Amino acid sequence: MIEDIEKDVFVRIQTDLLVVGDSIMTDRHHASNGNYEDDDPQNQIGGIIPAFPLSGWLRHGMEEVVHEYDGTACHPGEANANFMKEDTYERDLNDGYHEKGACTDDPKEDDGCVVFDLFGGFGGVPGKVMRRPIKFNPVRSSVDYTRGQAEGHYRRLNRNVVSRNEEDNREPLRNAEVDAVANLDGCWHLSFREVKPEFVGLLAEGIDFLDAHKTDFMHQLGGARNFGAGIVDCHLINPLYNERELKRVFDRGKGNTNKMDEKDDQWTEEYRPAFVEALGERVEEGP
Ligand SMILES: [Zn+2]
Repeated sequence: MIEDIEKDVFVRIQTDLLVVGDSIMTDRHHASNGNYEDDDPQNQIGGIIPAFPLSGWLRHGMEEVVHEYDGTACHPGEANANFMKEDTYERDLNDGYHEKGACTDDPKEDDGCVVFDLFGGFGGVPGKVMRRPIKFNPVRSSVDYTRGQAEGHYRRLNRNVVSRNEEDNREPLRNAEVDAVANLDGCWHLSFREVKPEFVGLLAEGIDFLDAHKTDFMHQLGGARNFGAGIVDCHLINPLYNERELKRVFDRGKGNTNKMDEKDDQWTEEYRPAFVEALGERVEEGP
């Protein structure tokens, strides 16, 4: 069954507004021909959303699923890091986490907990799921969904903090510019270095968890969450789809083919339950 699942899987991500600090890389210098104006709606600017915030968001969702199965997950922080809030770290360790890498004696030989197995990060082990950045482009016809790309519009937001003193007549005290992507819709490409049933089960459950908790502050993506950014609709695109079917998901003019409906039924009734069961067994085995 697991042999039917490719190493490359795709998560559909849709959000009205995403703010990733100042770390969105844009190609505005090429696109603007030197005449770039921040607020020109004609800007045809694409860019790259780095994988770091996406990875942290996914990992947190997966950790919650492991907790739901009464398991503990590797803490994302280094065990020997100098935590600014020692008591917070201690609390986490009592609350569903173990020290990073504590689940394996030899990370090169022994897989550790399922979160460590996927994300690694200790003893020079990279983890078995590779998280890629998302390349976005405002021109839909230029978006290659099969390469983990998205339609999205780069925007620079200006935030003024104004004086509270009446005499100042709401004069701006400072002005902050924030990079954002609006109306993002596309694919996040994940590659398993090795495909295991429990990995696919945890991915499916983790993405469903994130979708169900999308308005929880803790499970929003990126920054500016108090201002409505980072609320993400997400779902795992049926891993049984081939490339042509994957593209069709994003074709607003076309619906599912009969073959796609058939694959959806297979996924829901056979594959997914088997992979989720494998996840339950893996978590139960410990650590
Ligand atoms: Zn662990």
